[in-house]
Amino acid sequence: MRFASTRGQSDPVGFSEAVAQGLAPDGGLYLPENFPDLGAFIGQWEELAYPELCFEFLRLFATDLEADVLRRAIDHSYSTFSHPQIAPIVELSGNCKVLELFHGPTLAFKDFALQLLGNLYEHQISRTGKNLTILGATSGDTGAAAISGLIGKRGVTVFILYPNGKVSPLQERQMTCTGASNVFPLAIEGTFDDAQSTVKELFSDLPFREQVGLSAVNSINLARILAQSVYYLYAWLRLGRSERECTNFVVPTGNFGNVFAGWLLTKMGITIRGFRVATNQNDVLHRLFHTGEYSLDSVIPSLAPSMDIQVASNFERLLFFIFDGDSGRVREVMNSFREKGRYCFENFVAEGFSSSSATDPEIPEIIRSVNREYGYLVDPHTACGFKDLHPDEKHLVLSTAHPAKFPDVYENAGMEKPTSPILEELLEKPPVKYDSRVAPSAIRAFVENHSSQTSE
Ligand SMILES: *Cc1c(COP(=O)(O)O)cnc(C)c1O
Repeated sequence: MRFASTRGQSDPVGFSEAVAQGLAPDGGLYLPENFPDLGAFIGQWEELAYPELCFEFLRLFATDLEADVLRRAIDHSYSTFSHPQIAPIVELSGNCKVLELFHGPTLAFKDFALQLLGNLYEHQISRTGKNLTILGATSGDTGAAAISGLIGKRGVTVFILYPNGKVSPLQERQMTCTGASNVFPLAIEGTFDDAQSTVKELFSDLPFREQVGLSAVNSINLARILAQSVYYLYAWLRLGRSERECTNFVVPTGNFGNVFAGWLLTKMGITIRGFRVATNQNDVLHRLFHTGEYSLDSVIPSLAPSMDIQVASNFERLLFFIFDGDSGRVREVMNSFREKGRYCFENFVAEGFSSSSATDPEIPEIIRSVNREYGYLVDPHTACGFKDLHPDEKHLVLSTAHPAKFPDVYENAGMEKPTSPILEELLEKPPVKYDSRVAPSAIRAFVENHSSQTSE
């Protein structure tokens, strides 16, 4: 299977190459050139355990990896999860279920893709002999999950930019208290979007990319999307035949990576009733779905910081489908968006999507009301998913993080602080971080000075 860029100006590449590159050389995002029809496999896949399902699904795409390499990477990745089902479903009521995606080592859903990505990189390095430099921007959880997936991996140096003071103290500790010598957390002055745009700019510097073997762990990486499609499929299979096709997946959304991963299954013969894009007060996507206007605002820090995003990078992937694969039109929108910070679609239709937005004052209210009604504690990101759900419709809300990652939210709401032994351990370790300007030149110099560029 080959993967083509949304912008249509780079050559299609195989799975390993798309994963190693992250962003395509023309600045676009990789998508599969064609899609398998999963309908034929559903009967055989219903009973599979998570790692088996993951293997069966990914091998349809990762056709350039030997089966045993893929199998080992998957088994190794999900052995770090603390729940035997990996992604258990909890039933809150007849119409409302939660898919818990926080049983990985950093207690957020990003572990699903980043544990795997770490193991795929390791294989790629041993195969090619070329070291990799991982550069990413994080609003909190990606950094922690990427670092956890890449700690101590030989030949990999990791640079993670995050907005100083704008990630939760525990998220910061998850990135900075690792003791790993191949990890450099960079606290930048600015917002997540500033960090992300610097990362994008450095990726478009082709000689630099080549020189340090740059790869991306942001959700622009194809492997992240495909690894995340797996838990949608796993949940869908577990819903049972009568519920599958009438259940809406509710997805707390920032960069549009998670929800896009689920939507991709609808291209593979899987019927899903709908996807609800649940944003926090940074509601660029909610406005887009309601008005057809995609326009930047400034980021307002919120109680759900991993969704404090205005530029939803993965939206470009959906656009490619909305435009029927016309990459010229994708380029036109992305260029106009980059120059003017806005784009107005005529007759914007994104079939199968609905959206909501929860403000900061609403988040603790929702947490309390879900707890009162179901005796279940949601984290502030997951809480956004419970905004305005129709009581007569069936919903599966994706729970993207463990509440213990955000203790202050509960304390300020007069609730008991949730805890997790994994996080308690972090409090004992000394943090190591590097302060930096967000200017691409500053980051570039830092990376050049600290990455291991020599291939052994
Ligand atoms: C990253 C993250 C999100 C947003 O996911 P996207 O793929 O960026 O849409 C939501 N919740 C949590 C806890 C996250 O870490």
